[in-house]
Amino acid sequence: MIKYLVIGDPVAHSRSPKMQNAAFESCGMGSPYGIRHVKPEELPEFFEYARTHLAGVNLTVPHKLRAAELADTLTLRAKQCKSVNTLIIKEGLITGDSTDGVGLERALMHNFDLPVKGKSFLFAGAGGAARATAIHFACAGAKRIMFLNRTASKALEIIEDIDNLQTGCFCGFIDSKEREFLAAELKNTCCIIQATSLGLKDDDPAPFDLSLLEANMQLVIFDTIYKNTKLLQKAAELGIPCAGGKEMLIQQGAESFRLWTGMEPDLDAMRAGFELPPGGVEA
Ligand code: NAP
Repeated sequence: MIKYLVIGDPVAHSRSPKMQNAAFESCGMGSPYGIRHVKPEELPEFFEYARTHLAGVNLTVPHKLRAAELADTLTLRAKQCKSVNTLIIKEGLITGDSTDGVGLERALMHNFDLPVKGKSFLFAGAGGAARATAIHFACAGAKRIMFLNRTASKALEIIEDIDNLQTGCFCGFIDSKEREFLAAELKNTCCIIQATSLGLKDDDPAPFDLSLLEANMQLVIFDTIYKNTKLLQKAAELGIPCAGGKEMLIQQGAESFRLWTGMEPDLDAMRAGFELPPGGVEA
């Protein structure tokens, strides 16, 4: 019986069902994780269904911010980033949590052995993913976080939220048209986090002028997208250590699994599940 779901709009492309069921199966718990297309206007009704029928939910675009308002209660980290990608449902109480930040933090350790504490980051993007992960990084001791984003106001809102948390992390905005500032920042940062949707489509432009990247730069590049984007191709060409979003998805899903079951998931089984064709049982 389906007791866990991933919901989104769209959602058919999601790799979470195969990945999560691989973890459930390796604990002898069958395949209780399905998929459901939920439109934004259907979200309140879905919450009432989930309250009585489900034990856990993962939420993807565009539900993360609204879910933070609909949950009965939020964990501290979900409150801090005002975003929810995981619902934990016990005795009719819906708790919202955000595992994107810890997922990215662990992916950076896995891919580059890079801790967050004391390090500088340049985020391209200021949408839901950038918000949840950058706020988590500030709370986890990042020294400096700079943002590049098409819409400056969204980055400024995240910066204000981080400043209000008084973490001691220095934050700022860079206009991508100001090439000298961006070039200087690329020499200062430890890691670029690509968190825009640019790269999902093959003909998307790069998130910034890639000619600013140089072979001898002391940084690593993480693209939250699972594909071999133009940014990742350029980084590989220059010999800059780089990784796509697969490990972040695995690690954020693994954290959801721990919250639901209290058990340690088999990460290798989840990685193998990720490689299977996307989608799952509709419920
Ligand atoms: P979102 O809230 O819709 O934000 C989209 C971001 O992309 C915003 O910063 C937006 O800029 C920017 N953008 C979109 N189209 C653009 C364009 N034509 N030119 C310039 N900037 C553009 O989405 P999200 O939830 O943050 O997701 C962002 C990315 O993270 C997606 O690619 C998603 O696949 C990835 N992600 C990966 C994982 C993982 O586990 N690997 C988890 C979550 C998300 P504006 O603010 O100017 O609109």
